[in-house]
Amino acid sequence: MENIADLRTLLATPKKIVITTHQKPDGDAMGSSLALYNYLILQGHHIRVVTPTDFPAYFNWMPGCEEVWNYEENPTLSNALVYEADIIFCLDFNDLSRIEPFNKAFEQTQAKIVLIDHHLYPKDFAQFMLHDVKACSTCELIFRFIELLDKDYVYSKNVATCIYTGILTDTGSFSNGATNKKAFEVTAKLLDAGLNIVEVQESLNQNGREEKLRFIGNALNRKMTIREDLGIGYIVVDRKDAYRYNLQNGDTEGLVNYPLSIEKVKVSILIKQEAKIIKLSFRSKGSVSVEEICRKYFEGGGHRNASGGKSFLPLEETIQKIISIFEQNPLTD
Ligand code: 5GP
Ligand code: MN
Repeated sequence: MENIADLRTLLATPKKIVITTHQKPDGDAMGSSLALYNYLILQGHHIRVVTPTDFPAYFNWMPGCEEVWNYEENPTLSNALVYEADIIFCLDFNDLSRIEPFNKAFEQTQAKIVLIDHHLYPKDFAQFMLHDVKACSTCELIFRFIELLDKDYVYSKNVATCIYTGILTDTGSFSNGATNKKAFEVTAKLLDAGLNIVEVQESLNQNGREEKLRFIGNALNRKMTIREDLGIGYIVVDRKDAYRYNLQNGDTEGLVNYPLSIEKVKVSILIKQEAKIIKLSFRSKGSVSVEEICRKYFEGGGHRNASGGKSFLPLEETIQKIISIFEQNPLTD
């Protein structure tokens, strides 16, 4: 492992840089990628942000998002960027399986790989690492990284906006267990740099579609099962919902939090049928580790109280598997 501070020397002259993040990017993935992009682009580097899949349309106001390439639309050119890059930043993920099939190109590059991330159990594929599971978000780490490179940096509004977006979304608006002192300290500094909190709030949450709201209503009314006896609640979203409500990428974001508002529910699960797999989102209260469950049973991971995974079983069998996991391992918390 090389010293992350040595990147200061490497980045002192223009470099060919690729920034990438996980599939179906969330606010922290987009925020960290675009914050770093907006910071480095003004230093004369050649940079491209490549996301392994598309990103939700509700991020299409973020500064620099129009320059992002979707790997699925541009595989050949995206691979070429990786082959020729000097430096590749991997942000908000720590296992190359999270960028499949873009990860194949990484086997054929001489580029230095830099991992900046806050998820548990990073895999060993980077030469430089800024990894801290106590960070509230990867965006907090981007702030720390920029401080390391240039302690006198005067934040542009664009960089400030992107960093704040990741902090806001990963902390559940400064309320979940990821929220730390640094979240507030960094935000205070970003406010000095011209961050407009109301603008971000409006762009993120007051810019949506009626179909999405109707979908949430239906999901809570008809598709949510509460098993107080097991301490779990789950919501199933199948292909019929996707069709009926014209679901777009990102429309299920946040849905998994609702069952947790019920006192006896300690673990909440969103079970979402996708084209080839079932995508699972887990959230928990207190010391219950859904990370362990996702890692052990669903080829996934994340954080103790917020994790994801996948199932290759049919929908009904996936639901049964989840129920039997909690029947066999009763929650004690
Ligand atoms: P979400 O449920 O919002 O998709 O993800 C919750 C957390 O778990 C995020 O930090 C996300 O990066 C992580 N996560 C989601 N899906 C997966 C997965 O399939 N594998 C791993 N390792 N992490 C995941
Ligand atoms: Mn994150």
